[in-house]
Amino acid sequence: MSISENIARLRREIDRAARETGRTGADITLVGASKMNDEAACQEAIAAGIDALGENRVQEMTQKLARHAYDGAPLHFIGHLQRNKVRQVVGKAALIQSVGSEALLREIEKAAGRLEIVQDILLEVNIGGEEAKSGFAPSDLYAAAKLAAQLPHIRCRGLMTIPPVAHLPGENTPYFEKVRSLFVDISEKMYDNKWEYISMGMSGDFADAIRAGSNMVRLGTGIFGARNYTK
Ligand SMILES: *Cc1c(COP(=O)(O)O)cnc(C)c1O
Repeated sequence: MSISENIARLRREIDRAARETGRTGADITLVGASKMNDEAACQEAIAAGIDALGENRVQEMTQKLARHAYDGAPLHFIGHLQRNKVRQVVGKAALIQSVGSEALLREIEKAAGRLEIVQDILLEVNIGGEEAKSGFAPSDLYAAAKLAAQLPHIRCRGLMTIPPVAHLPGENTPYFEKVRSLFVDISEKMYDNKWEYISMGMSGDFADAIRAGSNMVRLGTGIFGARNYTK
């Protein structure tokens, strides 16, 4: 299967899941998680109409930017972002999806202020409470949202989550539903900064995520095939 055939098939599956919740595929943003895929693969996905590409690593993103891998589509940053690399991402990524600490929020504010831009971000929620994962605890999320709203060079557009690794179909649905309800609760309190995006769902569980209210899915293997970690 080619990248464009994969995207066409996934769009149909996305549409089917969206219709179960009174929406359509047009309401769901499809982000291609393009880590470990080269600029030709990225360009193929863009030609096939992907809505955005998401990268995980700053170094890989920088190299691929120089090779015009993302020309024609918005670039998202979706990986763990170290504070000392913030300046390499701010202003390059249209959306930084993985903002999981107040320190990182402040660092992004500083870098965006220096460039005199407003950086769009999502707050990442560690919904499974996993030690090894970054992201805000659900109980810290409202404070983070309020802080983000006070920072003039940051615009928070919603939430992102990566639930624990699931072993059974449907296993992550309760996590997706929790994130959806956090989104609704907090968004309601943020009158002047309505949130738009709930980024949840990957190749293995995007239909469940959409049924639980996701409107942005990040798909890697489903689009590009299995990643070759030996290269
Ligand atoms: C790699 C990655 C994805 C996509 O994962 P697949 O299972 O390959 O679809 C989504 N989100 C993030 C943050 C990722 O790092």
